[in-house]
Formats: sequence, structure tokens, C-alpha cells
Amino acid sequence: MSQQVFITGAASGIGLAMASAFVAEGAKVTLLDRDSDRVEAARADLAKEAGAAVWAMTADVAEAAEMTQAIAAAARAMEGLDVVIANAGIGLTKPFLETTPEAFAAVHAVNIRGVFHTIWAGAREMIARGQAGSLLVNASVTGLRPSTERAAYGSSKAAAINLAQVAAIELAPQGLRVNAICPGPVATPLTEVMHDGPTRQEWETRVPMQRYGTPEEIADLAVFLASPRASYINGQAIAVDGGWTIAGLMPQR
Ligand code: NAD
Repeated sequence: MSQQVFITGAASGIGLAMASAFVAEGAKVTLLDRDSDRVEAARADLAKEAGAAVWAMTADVAEAAEMTQAIAAAARAMEGLDVVIANAGIGLTKPFLETTPEAFAAVHAVNIRGVFHTIWAGAREMIARGQAGSLLVNASVTGLRPSTERAAYGSSKAAAINLAQVAAIELAPQGLRVNAICPGPVATPLTEVMHDGPTRQEWETRVPMQRYGTPEEIADLAVFLASPRASYINGQAIAVDGGWTIAGLMPQR
């Protein structure tokens, strides 16, 4: 039976690449985004693939009621739900002392409260339907290793990893696995805005593979983690980062 996949932030970047990868696997896919025009355009584009079954929804992941309704509607449309991906996120590059309480709260509203709403409502829907499955959180390497100017972003991603791991422990007896994906730098509209020239150069110097990743390289891990081939992988935070998190001294000569 084909998988029934729900992805947030699916109108752009990594979420869109994930949607495309699942469609290529023959899955039914619901795309959710707060940008109604772009999510509908993404749906229309993906629907061109032969045999594709794709739905689009507009909601804000920071709003719990909107997410509960959207997930229930997605499960009805797809006649089930066995993969839920909390991917939507926003960035902020600001020194600690210049991070306002309002900006901190805005980043956490999407990157951690939004993740909670997604996997909480998703898991409840899956359990109510008696379906086993896989939940994924798209976190970041900045949730594994603190970086400068990431007070709001990095702390939200560290919290998202911890939340995925708490859920992994609690939901395992119900047949649900929960894992976090931790991308390094990936070429998407988010990094176009978030990474200035010096930041880009710093990543390219410090990533042992000396390049940004592609959205497709992150999507491939999502497809694997959601598949039966990953049936004993639970509660992990897996970096897809060209080796950045494990690199020690790398003198540039
Ligand atoms: P992107 O900006 O290209 O796409 C993010 C999508 O999420 C957009 O379509 C946006 O409209 C949507 N979105 C934002 N806030 C939303 C909300 N409140 N409700 C619903 N949808 C919302 O970004 P991306 O680079 O593809 O990032 C996707 C995820 O990957 C994010 O969680 C990001 O933090 C994470 N990530 C990205 C990188 C990278 O280098 N690009 C690295 C590590 C982690």
C-alpha cells in the first residue's frame, strides 16, 4: 500500500524536495504551507507526475487549531496517514544581545511550537486510526552545535531535537518512530536570505566536503527514515552535513 505523507513548509526548498521524492516513490502527499499561492503552484507542478496523488493546504504551523484541522483533513483526503514531517521553519541571524524578545518568540513560534503542533496532532491522528508510521522533524546542525548569531534559531532547533526524542520514547509502544534530520548548509531560499558572503565562505571552508548540500540530499534521508528499511531507527538526530559536525582541526594551507 502506498504511503500517506503530510509535510509542512512544503512550498519551497527542502520541504518541496521531500514532497517530490515521496511522489516519485508512489506515495500520496499532502503539502502544507502558509503561502497559499506557492503551495498551490507546487501541488500543480507535482501533480503532473504520472499517477501522482497530491493535495495542498494553507495553514500556519504556529496555530494549534489550524494544524489539528489540517492534519485531520489530510488524513481524510489521503484515506490514512503514516508519515508526518515537521519541516516548516524560519531563520534569524542576530547577535545574542541584539535578539529582541519579540524576534526570539517569533522564531520559536514556528520552529518549536509549530513542530510540537505538527507531530502532536499527527501522532494523535495516526493512533486514532490505528496506523503505525514515522514522524520526522527537520531540525538543523545548529541544534547539535552552538554557533554565533543563532540564539533564537539554534535554541529552537535544539529544542526540536529534544522534543523528537521525547516523542520517540513515548510513542514507540504505539508503533510510531520519531527521528530528527539535522541538515548542514543547504542551498534554498532560506539560506539565500540568512547567509551573507562571509557566512557562506565560512561554511564552505569548514564543511570537509567544501560545499552546500542540495535539498534532494536531505529529502533522500527523509524517504529512507520513513521507509520499512529504517524500521529499527528511532529517536535519532542524524546530521546530513558533509562532515561539518565531526570535523576537528582543519588548518587551511
Ligand atoms: P525555505 O524558506 O525554502 O522553506 C520553508 C517553507 O516553510 C516556506 O515555504 C515557508 O512559506 C514555510 N513556512 C514558514 N513558516 C511557516 C509557518 N508558520 N507555517 C507554515 N509554513 C511555514 O527553507 P528551507 O531551507 O527549505 O528550510 C526548511 C527547514 O529546514 C527549516 O525548518 C529550516 O530551519 C531547516 N534547515 C534548513 C537548512 C538550510 O541550510 N537551508 C539547514 C538546516 C535546517
